[in-house]
Amino acid sequence: MRIPYIMTPGPTEVSENVRIARSIRCTNPDLDNKFYDFYKETCNRLGKVLNTKNEVRVLCGEGILGLEAACASLTEKGDRVLVIDNGIFGEGFADFIRLYCGKVVFFKADRKHAINIEDLKEFLDKDNDFKYATVVHCDTPSGVLNDISKICPLLKKYGILTVVDSVAAMGGENLEVDKWNIDIVIGGSQKCISAPPGLTIVSISKDAFSSMENRKSPIGSFYCNLLAWKNYYEDKWFPYTPPVSDIYGLREAVDNILKDKEILNRHKNIASSTRYAVRKAGLDLYTEDGYSSTVTVIQVPDGIQDNKLREYMEENYDVMIAGSFGYLKGEVIRIGHMGENARYDKVSYTLYALQQSLEKFGFKCACDMSSCFLNSVKNTENNHYKHNLVCQ
Ligand SMILES: *Cc1c(COP(=O)(O)O)cnc(C)c1O
Repeated sequence: MRIPYIMTPGPTEVSENVRIARSIRCTNPDLDNKFYDFYKETCNRLGKVLNTKNEVRVLCGEGILGLEAACASLTEKGDRVLVIDNGIFGEGFADFIRLYCGKVVFFKADRKHAINIEDLKEFLDKDNDFKYATVVHCDTPSGVLNDISKICPLLKKYGILTVVDSVAAMGGENLEVDKWNIDIVIGGSQKCISAPPGLTIVSISKDAFSSMENRKSPIGSFYCNLLAWKNYYEDKWFPYTPPVSDIYGLREAVDNILKDKEILNRHKNIASSTRYAVRKAGLDLYTEDGYSSTVTVIQVPDGIQDNKLREYMEENYDVMIAGSFGYLKGEVIRIGHMGENARYDKVSYTLYALQQSLEKFGFKCACDMSSCFLNSVKNTENNHYKHNLVCQ
């Protein structure tokens, strides 16, 4: 099977060392005490990426499992939960909360902008009786990035637990779980972490655990029960058999991130240079502020069908980019420059391929996007440019 460059906002490219790690012999993870140590150390290293001393767990399902597990574990019948919604994933939290019989209250905001802190504060001054609140770090379908460094401390001031979907940001955006008071943060293996799909990462604060322990009713799920994972190490008991190979691969991917001292700067530089090139070419970005460093979302020019454009790009240039879904279906195209895709060579080739394809469908770019991108990169990051230009 021919696999193109997957320049999508997840799943992302998986590096060779991660692929090799996934092929080593498996132990019996339920019985081998050394595997409990390996798992624990993997969680500790993830804690370094998240800047937290909170408990970290790796669950065996992709990001959605982490989102549902947070809601299942915290929600009791009738609990009021605040859903901060300025995008598709933001709104989506409400479904999980309702499944576990919570009462959803929305804070709805414009989907082209990051959450405005002053507006949120004004809202909370009037109503703050919530058990927890949910917010998305980078809402991938639109690419809007919310400033959780401000949102979560504000919520905590009102005594509200904070749940953050950072699936599309963890590993590509700065994330300071302890400093920012994030009770539960959720990540996924297949986005910036750049391991294959299949695992979700959650960090859980003491406050979150004690809220679960003080429930009046039991958690209404086994697979989504975070409390079941609390004492796995002391008890030498996993709630279910962990996918050993996935975790071997994840460990390697996490080490790649920890070794890569420039990773966050590179994401930033690539994202701002992509925006620069795209705008200079005469294209429009979807959001008006709150730009994510992990994905660039571009409006499809009038008269072009996004699926035809993407098909042409893949057929002729071997690059896959993404469309979007929900209310954005057909409206935007998305370039994922996260994790292993946050490489100058890959993004510059992607912009070249996009330009050729746009021009094939009659949209004339006002500049050479690929060169614009590389020039912008060079201007912003002279020192690191040479070392990181070619993908490793
Ligand atoms: C990808 C993603 C998820 C998880 O969805 P998957 O089904 O694992 O792809 C959740 N939230 C956000 C913001 C995401 O980008």
